[in-house]
Amino acid sequence: MKALAIGAIVRDAEIERAPWIGDRRWSLIHDVSRVVADPVVRQMGTVVGSLCHNDPAGDWTATALASRATIVIRGKAATRRVLIDEFLVDSFATAVGEGEIALGAEFPAPDDRTAGSYQKVERKVGDFATAAAAVQISLGSDGTVRAAGVALSAAGACAVRVDEAERLLTGQKPTAELLRAVSDAAWKRSAPQADLRGSVEYKKHLAGVLVARGVRQALARLGVQA
Ligand SMILES: Cc1cc2nc3c(=O)[nH]c(=O)nc-3n(C[C@H](O)[C@H](O)[C@H](O)COP(=O)(O)OP(=O)(O)OC[C@H]3O[C@@H](n4cnc5c(N)ncnc54)[C@H](O)[C@@H]3O)c2cc1C
Repeated sequence: MKALAIGAIVRDAEIERAPWIGDRRWSLIHDVSRVVADPVVRQMGTVVGSLCHNDPAGDWTATALASRATIVIRGKAATRRVLIDEFLVDSFATAVGEGEIALGAEFPAPDDRTAGSYQKVERKVGDFATAAAAVQISLGSDGTVRAAGVALSAAGACAVRVDEAERLLTGQKPTAELLRAVSDAAWKRSAPQADLRGSVEYKKHLAGVLVARGVRQALARLGVQA
């Protein structure tokens, strides 16, 4: 399998119960599929609907960023493929234009040395994130990080990639010191709004903590301690 293709009518609950969901390579998708909204909403909500909705605190958008997903968009004349980074335009706005529809989302298939983690703080089950972090780590044969995907939800107008955290991790052997730098990068990148879920300071603090926790859990799933 080159990619996991999730069509426009696939509901969250189908992903949560998919036969491949227990495979370590899909651990980021596994984690997120259990914390989007609540079980009742997941029976109706779709992954692609969530991406198209592009709520600033949505869970699938950050997951798609960390996974480097591509969205397939069909127009009257042609079909085009848009990387998630360009797909998420602004709060509740995407690259889907007039007369277009999203056909699906493609998540590149991770290799055997890849694992992920989704970390979400919510006030109660069924609530949108106060803060959340999506992490995917691929290790090379020498134990260094070959590729990293790190993204935040509830940290800006829409989900954001923490480029600096990805840069810091790539090519390095994970250490406690490196994780502190990665956590700082997430804190800096997070630009949330204060609301009923918490203050700007609280949400920024959570962003740093959750990214470090996500990297640590992804590594632990690969048998590495940092
Ligand atoms: C009580 C409640 C709690 C929730 N909690 C969370 C949460 O914790 N985390 C979270 O991430 N989400 C949460 N959600 C959102 C939910 O999970 C769904 O993602 C959301 O409601 C969208 O549902 P839907 O898939 O039916 O899309 P729709 O409601 O049908 O569509 C959403 C938007 O996307 C557009 N759209 C949908 N499909 C396409 C397509 N194929 N092509 C182009 N445009 C399209 C629609 O026109 C619309 O503007 C919550 C929702 C509810 C009601």
